[in-house]
Amino acid sequence: MNVRCSNCGTENAVPDKPTGLRYQCFRCGAFLPQPTPPTGETSAAVGLIGGAALGAAIAGPPGALIGAILGAIIGGQSKGVG
Ligand SMILES: [Zn+2]
Repeated sequence: MNVRCSNCGTENAVPDKPTGLRYQCFRCGAFLPQPTPPTGETSAAVGLIGGAALGAAIAGPPGALIGAILGAIIGGQSKGVG
């Protein structure tokens, strides 16, 4: 199935089944949202996605990596919130 990149809007083809792997946009490198999130998704993972999108918006693909790390840290510290 196709998953739309939340950063640049590019359609990325990913496997239909959730594999637990995180795919990145082939164009901008931002992490793609899971087509069907597995149960037990941690807030850190949610923060990672949001951080990557935010980082990419600010500093492009390199920023996405930094944002993902920061997002995971922030998300991990706010369990139960997001
Ligand atoms: Zn993209």
